[in-house]
Amino acid sequence: MKKILPVITLFILAMTLLLALASCDKGSKDTPSLISTSPQETTTPAPETTTEPSHEHSYTEVVTPPTCTEGGYTTYTCSCGDTYVDNQTDPLGHDWGEWKTTVAATCTAVGTETRSCTRCDATETREIPKAAHNYVATVIPPGKTTQGYTKHVCSVCGDSYNDNYTNPTGSVGLDFTVNPDDTITITGIGTCTDEDIIIYSTYYVDEQGNSKVVSSIAANAFRDNTTIKTISIPASVTSIGDGAFAGCTKLTEFKVESENKNFSTVGGVLMSKDGSTIVAYPAGLNLTTYTVSASITTIRPSAFAGCANLTVFEVASGNARFTTVDGVLYDSDKITLIAYPAGKASTSFTLPDTVEKIGDYAFYKATKLSAITLNDRTYESDGTTVDVPGISSIGSYAFYGCTGLTKITIPNITTAVNTYAFANCTKLAEVNIGSGLKTISTHCFEGCTAIKYLLIPETVEVIDDYAFYDCTNLTTLVLRSGVKEIGYRAFTNCLNKGTDSTGKNIARVYYEGTASKWNSSEITIDASNWMYLTMYADLYFYSETDPGSGNYWRFVDGVATPYR
Ligand SMILES: [Zn+2]
Ligand SMILES: [Zn+2]
Ligand SMILES: [Zn+2]
Repeated sequence: MKKILPVITLFILAMTLLLALASCDKGSKDTPSLISTSPQETTTPAPETTTEPSHEHSYTEVVTPPTCTEGGYTTYTCSCGDTYVDNQTDPLGHDWGEWKTTVAATCTAVGTETRSCTRCDATETREIPKAAHNYVATVIPPGKTTQGYTKHVCSVCGDSYNDNYTNPTGSVGLDFTVNPDDTITITGIGTCTDEDIIIYSTYYVDEQGNSKVVSSIAANAFRDNTTIKTISIPASVTSIGDGAFAGCTKLTEFKVESENKNFSTVGGVLMSKDGSTIVAYPAGLNLTTYTVSASITTIRPSAFAGCANLTVFEVASGNARFTTVDGVLYDSDKITLIAYPAGKASTSFTLPDTVEKIGDYAFYKATKLSAITLNDRTYESDGTTVDVPGISSIGSYAFYGCTGLTKITIPNITTAVNTYAFANCTKLAEVNIGSGLKTISTHCFEGCTAIKYLLIPETVEVIDDYAFYDCTNLTTLVLRSGVKEIGYRAFTNCLNKGTDSTGKNIARVYYEGTASKWNSSEITIDASNWMYLTMYADLYFYSETDPGSGNYWRFVDGVATPYR
């Protein structure tokens, strides 16, 4: 910016005048003496320089302070007109005051706020986000069948939401499972101690209100509960499994929400909505006779299971579907025995010749019965014509809990004895299995604690899971050669009778085969049985003749007998 004049002669002249011109002395010390703020001055020297002596610049300073947006600087001006600018500073920037609300935000609309500069007229405006709702919480307590929750309503705009859902005050603690379709099935009493059970229509599975509808009651869900007096079934239940209320001996009344489209009640008895099907009779009802009305077309298998007060069934005269013989309920052609009144005083019972099927739960907890004769097929003397058809099948739970029953002979014609058919028959000591049965079904004789001697005939191939589970007094088990499979826990808790004075196991298993067959793939024994069959009991293999030593047996007059 500053240029040294090329004219050397002028420079020398200036030097001679140096002391005379004291007023410019200072400037000569601080800055080069010949400077200019403009090239014009340097190229066009002032006329005085030629006519008057040159001088040292003496600048006056004018400070221009910075503003919010413009920088500050100092202007130096010499009396000679030379001028320049220096000491530049940055703009100050605005000095903003506090934001002040111009339009307040609400929970439904944004607001605005403004601030001003304390130095200049500048202002700034910005948006204020929507305000939070001003929710006021109200707790809605649960009803018997309706959920409780907390309702939050904004006092400004009315916006609302619910949370903290709680289940109805109906029966708490019932067991349930969640079905693949996301509905709930009630499976049991769980931890509930209510005498009057109220089943919810909806379960709230979390506090956010996610819910699942109760659609069904599982088979055997409340079976043998002796606390329940009434049970209220919500509108949402569309199916109830067999045996759900079997043997509930305190139960005197079913209640069904009137909105339920599948079920209704008549005199406390659970019926289909249209009243044509008897679903379940409350087993604690204090009546000795029940009359099946003319309009009944279907009776569910477990409808009268364990009704200990009932001694007689009757069928109204207009009903062509059902009939009774000696107070026992059959279908009209007497092929299926539907229900034996559990309170019937007789100790023995002989089936009509026509009966071929014993229905599920038919004799459930008929505890007074000690003997029953199950018909086998008989023939005319020519050996061809069927005289008595015999019992071809015995339903599940058919004789469950018949605690007076001491002996049962399953006919040779019987091909199916279903699950739990003789379970918990605690006096049942003698079991004769006919030749028609290939499978002993699951849980079939579970808990039959009176059985000491058991012969599995050679026609039996499969002893299914839990078939003899908990037959704790079983001491002698004869497994004939036909057995191919022994299922999970089929003999768990059996044959554990300790040892005699000689240290031998008291319990024995007589297997009609060799050790190599026992250990071969010809027979599959679930490992859960090994301890009971081979450790608690001594295992004997079959031999027609005495091998001289070892655990061997043969039949003597039809009785399994060891050689020693
Ligand atoms: Zn000057
Ligand atoms: Zn400003
Ligand atoms: Zn609001």
